[in-house]
Amino acid sequence: MGSVAVVGAGPAGLTVARELSRMGHDVTVFEEDEVIGRPEHCAGLYSLAGLRKIGAWSTSYVVNAVRGAVFTSSRGKELLVERPAPIAVVARREELDRYLAELAVSKGADIEIGRRVESVRAQGNLSLLLNGEWRRFDAAVIAEGMRRTLTRSIYGPLRASTPIPIAQSLIRGHGLDPDRVYVWFEPYLEDYFAYAVPLNEELARIGLASRSDTLGLLKKFTDTRFAGAKTLGYQIHTLWLDGPLDIGLDGRVVLVGDCAGQTKPLTGGGVVVGGLCALSAARHVHALLEEGKDGTYRKLVRWIYADLRATKFLRDELNRRVGVDALIELASDSGIGKELSVLGDMDFHALSLLRSLPSLSGLRFIVGLLAALF
Ligand SMILES: Cc1cc2nc3c(=O)[nH]c(=O)nc-3n(C[C@H](O)[C@H](O)[C@H](O)COP(=O)(O)OP(=O)(O)OC[C@H]3O[C@@H](n4cnc5c(N)ncnc54)[C@H](O)[C@@H]3O)c2cc1C
Repeated sequence: MGSVAVVGAGPAGLTVARELSRMGHDVTVFEEDEVIGRPEHCAGLYSLAGLRKIGAWSTSYVVNAVRGAVFTSSRGKELLVERPAPIAVVARREELDRYLAELAVSKGADIEIGRRVESVRAQGNLSLLLNGEWRRFDAAVIAEGMRRTLTRSIYGPLRASTPIPIAQSLIRGHGLDPDRVYVWFEPYLEDYFAYAVPLNEELARIGLASRSDTLGLLKKFTDTRFAGAKTLGYQIHTLWLDGPLDIGLDGRVVLVGDCAGQTKPLTGGGVVVGGLCALSAARHVHALLEEGKDGTYRKLVRWIYADLRATKFLRDELNRRVGVDALIELASDSGIGKELSVLGDMDFHALSLLRSLPSLSGLRFIVGLLAALF
């Protein structure tokens, strides 16, 4: 057994900490903020199956359950993907993080809050700099989220990419069906989308991703789609939507979660995907410390990374060559929404499409796509 430092008490770091503690390692999580789960930066939508897979399921943080999603093209055509029973939950994210922290502590992890890791020395003796003092560990898991400060300091310059700004607000009086979440491809949103995640009959989190004027566009979206609603405050965040990095998968310092790009390229959701990768990272660290065996993480996340990269490729190519609107309309006309409703997986989008293609509606979708492409 060995000593493992985890940087960041978000869902990815806390999941690794829980697993490694359960395996008997001496785990310390360092979190720079004073309160776990704050500041909150999430729409709070997670697949039920995904939460179960990552060992994070509990009713304690749930505020709503949803059965499906409605995607609306800029010309108003709808694609409905829906199940008879709930497929996802809407959560209070702070409480989810707190629950994950309790689980990690119950397995033996130590969490030091208000403790920022200033630097990581990965050569020679592995050490972390905290309050001007170097502390040695056998392995380290970097789960620092969006910022990638330590990630860059360890691995050098990363591939050129820019995070996508996302503005989110809470509104009262949404008038939507609280059993569904909603995605709109508005004519004034060139690259990305707007969404609504109802918390109940009255309240919904709404948000919008766009490379420029994100807040201005969210206000415009709110005024047009939710004219009668009351806005209860805005927040601005950023998201990585460009797929996983090919670093931090080997050796005694590994990356998990947002800093590794483990988020869904279509929606930016990262709690379940990052959590699944965190389970693999924990097995990797365990194999390395117990048997000196490297390569487990890279091998275990191969299929997850393949799906994320295929999803990004499809998004970019189809967006460039066909356009989101045409795709939504094609999907709606072909009837593939029915296949997606049954066979789709909220966390793996390329796989969902692949599963839905061998069907009559899938065939209609492919024929329509080919006609649009050539
Ligand atoms: C507006 C918005 C809506 C979203 N909606 C959803 C959604 O509905 N569903 C979904 O699945 N995902 C969603 N996401 C994405 C999701 O929030 C992230 O994928 C998830 O939080 C990633 O978890 P993480 O543990 O990698 O990072 P984080 O949750 O960001 O945690 C990283 C932690 O590391 C700490 N930290 C950073 N640097 C240091 C340091 N040097 N020393 C000590 N501590 C440090 C930070 O304080 C932070 O607590 C959304 C994101 C945004 C911005």
